Amino acid sequence: MPANDIDPYSSSEGLFECVGCGSRQRAASRPGECPDCGGEVRNIAVSRE
Ligand SMILES: [Zn+2]
Repeated sequence: MPANDIDPYSSSEGLFECVGCGSRQRAASRPGECPDCGGEVRNIAVSRE
């Protein structure tokens, strides 16, 4: 059975918000840092972990 952590057809895509400038973006995996200001980005969509 394949480990499908990233499935483009499911709702696995997360919503991330920068704690620095509040910029939001969607990505399959957590961005290392905000592309706008380089601040910390946190996942605000997925609560299962
Ligand atoms: Zn930012």
